[in-house]
Amino acid sequence: MSVSNHNICDQCLPAVDPGSARPRDEVADTGVCGVCLRIAEVFDLQALELYRSHGLSDEQIWRYVPRLRCSFVRNESTRYSLDDLHRIASTMKVV
Ligand SMILES: [Zn+2]
Repeated sequence: MSVSNHNICDQCLPAVDPGSARPRDEVADTGVCGVCLRIAEVFDLQALELYRSHGLSDEQIWRYVPRLRCSFVRNESTRYSLDDLHRIASTMKVV
């Protein structure tokens, strides 16, 4: 894996980010965990943080924006940078 995988699953989350509240299932997506390398429901915490800084709710994240920069499942070629996600979030009208 040449690109760093920021995805993290439920089981690895407490070890990597102790004390942080587990995000809700709505904002997880299927992907390879960057820590244990299992395919699971994973979170991209930096992406979520970015979306929340734009005022997006969990439901808006679930419905309208990529929840992971990359799933890393098989040959997934879609790769967003945080800048890409920032642009996507900026186009969302938050009411
Ligand atoms: Zn894991």
